[in-house]
Amino acid sequence: MPAVRDAVLKSLSLKIVDDMKKTDPKGKYKLRNNFIVELLVHLKQKNSFEEYYRFLTDFESFSKDWLHDRVIAHCKEQSGGKIKFTHLAKEILTEITDEAKKVVRDAVTQNISGNAKSFLDLFVEKLKTRITMSKDEMKIGLSLADSNAKKFAETVLPSIAEIEKLLLHEITGWNVETKIKDLSVKPNEELFKGLFCCTKKCPFCGAFCESETIEHAQHFSKQHRPEGLNSYRWIQTQHLAMEICTALVAGNATFQNRDTNQKWISYKDYQTVNDYYKSWIIQRDPSAEATSYWKKVFHTFNKEFADRYGAKPAEIGNAWDIGWDKVKEDLNKTYNTNIQSL
Ligand SMILES: [Zn+2]
Ligand SMILES: [Zn+2]
Repeated sequence: MPAVRDAVLKSLSLKIVDDMKKTDPKGKYKLRNNFIVELLVHLKQKNSFEEYYRFLTDFESFSKDWLHDRVIAHCKEQSGGKIKFTHLAKEILTEITDEAKKVVRDAVTQNISGNAKSFLDLFVEKLKTRITMSKDEMKIGLSLADSNAKKFAETVLPSIAEIEKLLLHEITGWNVETKIKDLSVKPNEELFKGLFCCTKKCPFCGAFCESETIEHAQHFSKQHRPEGLNSYRWIQTQHLAMEICTALVAGNATFQNRDTNQKWISYKDYQTVNDYYKSWIIQRDPSAEATSYWKKVFHTFNKEFADRYGAKPAEIGNAWDIGWDKVKEDLNKTYNTNIQSL
C-alpha cells in the first residue's frame, strides 16, 4: 500500500499542472505573455506598493507564491460533488490499479509458467515506470514455496482491489495544503518552469530574460522598465531614473554600481563590465520609453519607491498619470492579449 500511495503522490503534481493548463480559458499557465498580464492585473487590483516592490525585485518568488495560491484554489474547486484534488488523485489511483489488474489478468489468461517469483518479477517489471515496489513487500503473508505463478497471481488480484478501496477512502480525507506541501515535485515550481526557461535578470532594471530556448548564451528582454523602479538614480540630483535600459544604452550617460566597483562606465559600453553584462543584449533605441503600465505605477508610487531606495522621487509630470483604460489597451497590444478590464 505505501508503494501505491507513493505512486499516486508521484504523479499528482503533474496531473494538477496538466489540469490547470487544460482548464484555464485565459491560457495563463501556458503562455508567458498571458501569465505576466494576469500578474499585472492582479497587482493593479491589489494597488499595494509592497506587492509591486516584490514583483519588481523578487519576481521569481512573487510568481511562485502567486502560482501556489492558484494551485490551492484549483485543487479546492468543486467538481461533481468532490473537490478537484480528490478527483485527480482518485483518477491516478484508478489508472495505477487498472494497470496492475491488467498485468495480473494477462498473466493468468496466458497461463504464466514458473513459480510465484516468476510472476512477481514480471509484475514488478511491467509496473516499474509507475510504482517503485520491493518484492519483499509483496511477499509478506504469502507462502511462496508451494504456489505456482498462476495460482499466486490469482491471489494478488483481491489484494489490489483491497488496496484500491483503502486508498480511495484515505484520499477522500487528504488535506489539500498539507499534501501539496509534502509533494516532492511542487506544482507551482513546475508551472513556473514551464513559463520561464531562463531566470536571468537585466542587470539594470531587473526584467526577466524572455528567451524561449533553454540553452542560450545571450539574454534579452523586450520589456525593460524604468531603472528607477530598481533603485537607479541620477547621482547629481538623487532623483530616481525614469529612463529605460534601451534608451540609456543608446545615449551618453554613465553608470556605476557594485559590479563596476563603483567605477563610472558608459552605458554604451555596459557589456565590458563582466561576462554577465556581456551576455545581455539590450537593444539600443534612444527614443524608447517605458510602457504606460509602468509609467502609471511609477507615477502612483513615486514617493514610496524613493523612500524605499533612499533617493528622491523621479521628476514625473502629469503625462505619466495615464488612465487605466489606456493602460489596458496598451497591455493588450504589447502582450497580444485580450483583457477586458484592469
Ligand atoms: Zn533592463
Ligand atoms: Zn536568458
